Amino acid sequence: MVETVETGEEKAPKAAPTRRRPARARTAKPKNAAYRFGVLPMPPLDYTPEVAAETAPLYAKVAHVIPAIEWPIHAPYVKAINDIKKQRGAVILAHNYMTPEIFHCVADIVGDSLQLAREAAKTDAEIIVQGGVHFMAETSKVLAPEKTVLIPDGEAGCSLAASITAEDVRLIRRRYPGVPIVAYVNTSAEVKAEVDVTCTSSNAIEVVESLGADTVICLPDQYLARWVASNTKVKIITWKGSCEVHERFTGDELRAYRDADPGVTIIAHPECPPDVIAAADFAGSTAKMVDFTKSLAPGSRVVLVTECSMADNVAAEAPDVEFVRPCNLCPHMKRITLPKILDCLLNLTGEVVVDETVAARARAAVERMIHLKN
Ligand code: SF4
Repeated sequence: MVETVETGEEKAPKAAPTRRRPARARTAKPKNAAYRFGVLPMPPLDYTPEVAAETAPLYAKVAHVIPAIEWPIHAPYVKAINDIKKQRGAVILAHNYMTPEIFHCVADIVGDSLQLAREAAKTDAEIIVQGGVHFMAETSKVLAPEKTVLIPDGEAGCSLAASITAEDVRLIRRRYPGVPIVAYVNTSAEVKAEVDVTCTSSNAIEVVESLGADTVICLPDQYLARWVASNTKVKIITWKGSCEVHERFTGDELRAYRDADPGVTIIAHPECPPDVIAAADFAGSTAKMVDFTKSLAPGSRVVLVTECSMADNVAAEAPDVEFVRPCNLCPHMKRITLPKILDCLLNLTGEVVVDETVAARARAAVERMIHLKN
């Protein structure tokens, strides 16, 4: 059972908070990290025979998703970033939704948002460049407060994270006293600081059931909450947030794919609306989508209902599977580009700051989830 949260007369939740413009990322003044580590000069960015030879093994990994004519544009940046990354002793984290030239050619650690944050906490590197959106960089900073976390574009937001504020959560808690609150990791550090525990799309059901309550508030993604509610006996109260990328898919669209090719396997992310999940053969988190795709027999035909770069990156790892990609682009993820990563590494711009008190409370919510399982 699922119901949408009501905060009563104190403050009604906005009718359509998902369209709120993602807040500008809070970043430190550029001089901070640059002052500590120094600025580096711009390297040459010509596509020389040496650059072509040095980057050839990397191009081999992405040749079936990046046309040869585009590689001379990417290759000089790939070489420069990999050289400067070593010089800086930095690591680059790349979310599954990063474009293939970032994901396969310059990233040190790849994965979903939680995998990245956990690896950020473990790395010895002093500088972390986050290939992803702002809430991910914040989560890395929360789990690795002593490290310098940089985001190449501070405007890279998220419709889910922008759909709810810490004040909204405080109102919800007053409206539903004693009901535990679970926040999807796609939320700001301020929101995480107000909840009992966080979850990912991989572990949302386990987190909800671990609380031992009859009713749990699961926010901000109404579709993820509905998917959880359909897989548990716990009553779920949710918020009206949604992912602007996954909510654009429709069940009719998927049924049309199946009508055209009855043998096709349809895999959807639980951020999709319920009619999309109902039309799919499998619904699971980003990591589970990858595992499920890799488990299919060679020659299988798959409709991957998710973000475009995720589909490209899975395709690069599962060359024996044939993909039909009715994908939607995440405009926030696409703000992260090779030139911006290079600029970030040279000038150490986009340092992410999180208030220490907020960070400590947010860390407690994230660590409660981490210690629950894994
Ligand atoms: S794909 Fe959706 S949930 Fe992910 S960053 Fe973009 S808007 Fe946010």
